Amino acid sequence: MINAYAAFEPKGKLQPYQYDPGELGADDVEIEVKFCGVCHSDVSMIDSEWMPTKYPIVAGHEVIGVIAKIGRNVKGFELGDNVGLGWHSAYCENCSYCDSGDHNLCSRSRPTIIGRHGGFADKVRASSISVVKVPDGMDLASAGPLFCGGITVYNPLVQFGVKPTDKVAVIGIGGLGHMALQFLNAWGCEVTAFTSTAAKRDEAIEMGAHTLSAPKTLKHLGLPPTALT
Ligand SMILES: [Zn+2]
Ligand SMILES: [Zn+2]
Repeated sequence: MINAYAAFEPKGKLQPYQYDPGELGADDVEIEVKFCGVCHSDVSMIDSEWMPTKYPIVAGHEVIGVIAKIGRNVKGFELGDNVGLGWHSAYCENCSYCDSGDHNLCSRSRPTIIGRHGGFADKVRASSISVVKVPDGMDLASAGPLFCGGITVYNPLVQFGVKPTDKVAVIGIGGLGHMALQFLNAWGCEVTAFTSTAAKRDEAIEMGAHTLSAPKTLKHLGLPPTALT
């Protein structure tokens, strides 16, 4: 049995919930969950904001854990490997996107928390193709968000060919923005943070912003003026 925390109604509190995952699929792995981030998409699904959510729902799609069981067809993983699991837990593996490595665009991908149970649990299962090894030395407790918000802001750096010599601005220093600042700084870019919240000034600089937006510029963008000068 898998011990999880589930919501039983929109905006419902998470409560202990057990379910039987059945036999492990030949292409699947079972992950013993060590940490799981909380993404706003978890809240949206729990609150049934996007579509009628099927209850009970076990949310959690920023999973960090270790490989605890391995399906018979799975290659490339060993018991005890540190891994992460994000928004998708399976792909069709038979479309032009899957064939070219753009699995995230597969129209038959299976979201980790829609129609199946996610990572707010002691274990979660997924097709091995959607599971990523976590490099040695990473802080496992803080790595979870890389598998949702992190990849969401990292992908455009690659898609748009951002170079270390580029000057890049990040508008909005929230869940995604704070990771974008860190990626861009590490990439070597000159980084500007746009934020309408004066209280985020020090944090934005700590996370890699070289400059902060000026009130005049914010007004030009239609954002409220700020004390950041
Ligand atoms: Zn997410
Ligand atoms: Zn596909």
